[in-house]
Amino acid sequence: MAKIQITVWGYKCERCEHEWIPRNTVDEPRVCPLCKSPYWNKPRKNKSSKKS
Ligand SMILES: [Zn+2]
Repeated sequence: MAKIQITVWGYKCERCEHEWIPRNTVDEPRVCPLCKSPYWNKPRKNKSSKKS
């Protein structure tokens, strides 16, 4: 048996960049388990694409 890489679905917090694999993949986690932020899946919106 060759060595392979198994990829599983996980989540990554947009705030603290914490990555975790949920036990229940049906429901998205409400908060990041590390920083407890409810906006873990919402990246900072930057509508104005002006480069300063
Ligand atoms: Zn987080």
